[in-house]
Amino acid sequence: MSFYPCDSHRERVNGALSGARVTVLHRDANYSRKLRLCEPCLSDLVGVLANQWQELRDGEPPPSDSRLQVCTQEGCDRQSAAPIFGFVYPRGFEPRFFYGRLCGDHATARVRDLELLPNP
Ligand SMILES: [Zn+2]
Ligand SMILES: [Zn+2]
Repeated sequence: MSFYPCDSHRERVNGALSGARVTVLHRDANYSRKLRLCEPCLSDLVGVLANQWQELRDGEPPPSDSRLQVCTQEGCDRQSAAPIFGFVYPRGFEPRFFYGRLCGDHATARVRDLELLPNP
């Protein structure tokens, strides 16, 4: 059994967990948390990221493209976009790095849902 529970479905699993980190830049602060994920939960996350976010190569700067808005609901304010970064560390594979943008409201919600912590 894994020593820690998966941070997504919150149970311990057979085998090792992979790592991921989500960072949101919001209201001049930097919110971040490292997640420990089982294989299926990590695949789910990568699927979402690969669909909706822009994958960046090593050292590539994030594009300033408002089409990268991850949330596109009615009422999302595209002017107040908060950059959101997803780092995925699948065991035995190269890390992958994704970039997207959230409106201010959804940035606040994501920080709360993922229990991201402000960095000094
Ligand atoms: Zn899981
Ligand atoms: Zn939104």
